[in-house]
Amino acid sequence: MFCNSCGTEVSEFARVCPNCGEPTVKVETREVLGTKWADFLGYFYFWIGCLFGLIGIARLVELSGRSDDLLGGKANLSGYITVAVVLSLVNIALLAVAAVAIINRKRSAGKLVCAVFGYEFVSTIILLIYGSAVLGPGSFSGSDGVRMILDIVLIFVNASYFDNRRDIFVN
Ligand SMILES: [Zn+2]
Repeated sequence: MFCNSCGTEVSEFARVCPNCGEPTVKVETREVLGTKWADFLGYFYFWIGCLFGLIGIARLVELSGRSDDLLGGKANLSGYITVAVVLSLVNIALLAVAAVAIINRKRSAGKLVCAVFGYEFVSTIILLIYGSAVLGPGSFSGSDGVRMILDIVLIFVNASYFDNRRDIFVN
């Protein structure tokens, strides 16, 4: 190969040009790294989000099969489960919109990602209120609290991440 800087032929294994001292290894620019990271984020949000969404829906379907056993058959869970499944499906759709925006470097990507976490926060509250009305206050679990705190943290983390990368999300 040849040195990008002075044109001297250099060994494939040389890390710097023996003539001018320039690095021979193509240094990835912030732009390239930033775009790769953005692609990773886009796919990550989409696939991980879909996976958790589908696991959640599967658990709800399983719960609906056992709804007669719960609380000695006093609980009517079908309304709650319908709401929870609809909320999960909307969540997956929002994730897909955010992932597409990230991959296409849309300027709106950051706001969409924050909106997904905001939506998750609100839908957790809706399900907690609905769940405690149907199942009693015992339906609140620690994981709901952790998830809500995580949603808020992720809104701030992503707002700052996308704000610092306005040069990448320009479309
Ligand atoms: Zn050189």
